[in-house]
Order: sequence, then C-alpha cells, then structure tokens
Amino acid sequence: MKKIAIIGAGLTGLTTAFYLKKNNIDITVFESNHHIGGVIHTEKKDGFIWEKGPSTGVLGKPEAMELFEDLDALDILETAPSLAGKRYIWKGNKLHPLPGDPISGLLTPLFSWKDKLGILFEPFRPKAKNPDENLSSFVRRRLGESILQYAVDPFVSGVYAGSPDTIIPRYALPKLYNLEATYGSFIRGTIHKMKEPKTPRDLKATKKIFSAKDGLSTLINRLTLSIGEKHIKTDCKDVIVTKEEQGFSVSYTGSDAIHFDEVIFTGNAKGILKTFPFLQNKGLDAISKVRYTAVAEVAVGFKKWEGFPLDGFGALIPSKEGKRILGVLFMSSLFKNRAPSGGAMLSVFVGGERHPEYVSLSDKELKALVQEELTTILSIPNFNPTVFEISRHLEAIPQYDLLTPDRINAFKKAEENYPGLHLAGNGIGGIGMADRIKQGKELFLSIIS
Ligand SMILES: Cc1cc2nc3c(=O)[nH]c(=O)nc-3n(C[C@H](O)[C@H](O)[C@H](O)COP(=O)(O)OP(=O)(O)OC[C@H]3O[C@@H](n4cnc5c(N)ncnc54)[C@H](O)[C@@H]3O)c2cc1C
Repeated sequence: MKKIAIIGAGLTGLTTAFYLKKNNIDITVFESNHHIGGVIHTEKKDGFIWEKGPSTGVLGKPEAMELFEDLDALDILETAPSLAGKRYIWKGNKLHPLPGDPISGLLTPLFSWKDKLGILFEPFRPKAKNPDENLSSFVRRRLGESILQYAVDPFVSGVYAGSPDTIIPRYALPKLYNLEATYGSFIRGTIHKMKEPKTPRDLKATKKIFSAKDGLSTLINRLTLSIGEKHIKTDCKDVIVTKEEQGFSVSYTGSDAIHFDEVIFTGNAKGILKTFPFLQNKGLDAISKVRYTAVAEVAVGFKKWEGFPLDGFGALIPSKEGKRILGVLFMSSLFKNRAPSGGAMLSVFVGGERHPEYVSLSDKELKALVQEELTTILSIPNFNPTVFEISRHLEAIPQYDLLTPDRINAFKKAEENYPGLHLAGNGIGGIGMADRIKQGKELFLSIIS
C-alpha cells in the first residue's frame, strides 16, 4: 500500500488527507504548528464567536459542497441568509449599497453616468492584446474608471488585501478573464454561461456564503476527527524532505527519517526550497517567488449594538476614499451565535497592499485607528466593545501578480522531474476556501489515478 506524507494541516492538507484516508490510503500529516487548521482559527468568549483567519467562504466550487457531504457534515454547514447579497461601499462620507440590479445600477451614486451608460457598449469593446494585463487596466478598458474605483478596487482589497494594479485577472480571476478571452465580452460571456446546460454537480456550486456552526474550526475539528488525530503530527519543526532512490524520506527536529512513496506540500510557497533541499540550484527558484500581503484582522464585539443597521454582508472601503481600514464584515448578521442577542460581532481588516505598515502598529495604536474609523463608518455612538482582539498575519494572502506564470511553470517542472512529488498550497490554484478544498480533492484524485 502506498504511503503518503502531507506537509501542512491547513484546509488544503486536511482535505487531501481526508479523501486519501477515506480511501484507505496510509497517510501522515506533518504540521509545524501546534494548532491544526492553518490560518483557520475560531475563538469563543463571553457569548461571542469570532474568526482569527478566514471568516466566510463561497460555495463557488462543487468540491466545497461535496466536502461537507462526503464528511457527513451537512449538520455543521451554515449558510448566510439572503441579506448577505447586500454589500456596502463607502463613498463621500456615506455607505451606499452596491447595486444588484439594472435599476439600482442606474440610480447609484457610486458610478459615473459615463460608465453606467457605457455598459451598453461593453459587448462591442475589443479584446485585450496582452493576456497578462493587470486588473486595473482590464476593468478600466471594459467597464470604466468609476467601476474600477468603487466596485473592483474595494472587492480586491476585501478578498486579496491587494491592489488591482498588480493583480493579473488571468491567474487571480480566471472566470472573469475567460469571459473576455472566450466570448469577447463580460455581458455576452455571462449570457452564454447562463444558457449552458448544467449538470447536477455544476448546480452544487452556488454564490452562497458559508461557514460552519460555531465557526470554521468546527469544520477543521470534523476533518481531524475523520482523519484520526494519530495521523496528524503537530509541532514538527524544520521538516526536511529528502529524495531517495525510490520515493522520499521525511524528517523533522528530533525525529528519525520516515519513508514515503509520495509527498504532498500544502504550505506557504516561500518555504518549498527549504523543505525540499533537493530542489535547490535546479533552476526552480521561481517556485518560492510569491508576494504575500500582510493583514491585521480585528474582531470587535459589542454586547449592545447602537450603530448603523448591519443589514448586509459588510462594508468595503475604496482606496480613493483615504480611510485606514480595508473593510468590515457584519459577522453576527451572517451567522448564528456570533454575538449575544442585541449585540454585534464585526470583523475589521487593516493593512494589505495599501497600508502594510499598519499591521505592525502597536495594539494601542491599532485600537485607536480601528475605533476612529469604525465610529465614523458605522456611526457608533459609544465605542465600548466587549471583545477587541487583533490577529496579525504577516504573510496572509498570496498575490497572483506577474510572478505567477513563472511560479506555476516551476511547480509543474519540479513535479515532472520528481514523480511522486506534489506541490500545492495557496501559491497556486486560488486563495479562497473553496479553491483550497478543490485543490485538496484534486490532489487526492491525481494520487489514486
Ligand atoms: C486573515 C485571512 C483572512 C482570510 N479570509 C478569507 C475568507 O474570508 N474567505 C476565504 O475563502 N478565504 C480567506 N482567506 C484565505 C484562506 O483562508 C486560505 O487561502 C486558506 O485557508 C489556506 O489554506 P491552506 O491549507 O492552503 O494554507 P494554510 O491555512 O496556510 O495552512 C498551511 C499549513 O501548513 C503548515 N506548514 C507550512 N509549511 C510547513 C512546513 N515546511 N512544514 C510543516 N508545516 C508547514 C502551516 O503551519 C499551516 O498550518 C483568508 C486568509 C487569511 C490569512
């Protein structure tokens, strides 16, 4: 029977481990931290529940729904109510709902009249000549400057903590990129896609926002339970993988080398060359060339909420508006039990590509910054939170920028040169939780095939 080592016990590694184990394959997961779940980490205190890492996922890939089904965990799947479709954007000292239909699209003060009317001509605009065009230029060309500034820029801050000037749609937003590349237009492509017949599996991919009951750690706990804790080794410092004549050996500080037939890496791409010394000096340096943005996520919980009605997903702040936070999610409006009745739990994001320096501010400075911005944006009369917890992620989100194609090629080349080696993690294949689950499942499928 094949023996497989999986490096990293985040969502990607655990998904792969779960499917391999379910198919009776002998696996061991090696995790450098004490904590299982990677960046997923839920905290609970005083009637509040909050996330220190990812807060909400989208069931945008069938694999995400299938994981809950295959894990027999539909009982813990929690999806947000329809109000999650309402997203606010800050403009001119006010929150405005992002339009969701043509009428509100015409009436919104977020976009210029030139761009609102210009949408009618989008199907006739020429395709890009440069496939590696950045997102700013892509959106400006097809939709106009105000849509870039007041829809796409805040979206990129919210999802990537990044900038549309560096993000390349071909790698970061392949669905959007392909609408133009395949159909010549977003509108034409969307209509075409809507008409395409859907299989029952396609229909499992939806725009629904998900978490797990009592937070995402509940999903991690289910995965851990199913895999079996004895198959997950935590606190493995300095994991080193050595190529052997047949297969690989894995060792870490204080351990003997253990032989495996195949090895899967699911951590931060920057760590690959250190973990796999046999890949060094082989012209594969692009493997580890990835820029991660830094983010501070601040959980702010109020026992009694008296501010702006939290009737949506959250509020995003365009760079042009000069505020010092990227956005805020209304977590207690999305999922149950996040705050005591009448209270609120908010998740505030600071830093990113716009202001990485804010992540290194002292707790006191960061608290003052968050207090000042939240008080204004959400009209809070009395800033007296019961929970105020800062989680700093110095390497939070990989940026799918111009370094990406070389990185993807280097991953492929390394795997071709060393059969049995599988390089994964959020440096390729997308950053969202559904992307991670999809990659984890695909790793499993490639191994059993
Ligand atoms: C602050 C923050 C907010 C986010 N918000 C969202 C969100 O709202 N929605 C969403 O869909 N996505 C969000 N994301 C992105 C998403 O959470 C991640 O892409 C995803 O959880 C990453 O899972 P992973 O398993 O690939 O990596 P990780 O969670 O990073 O796990 C990798 C694991 O590998 C371990 N590891 C790495 N190298 C080694 C090694 N050499 N030896 C041993 N162990 C190693 C690490 O310790 C870690 O535990 C967010 C990310 C961050 C940081």
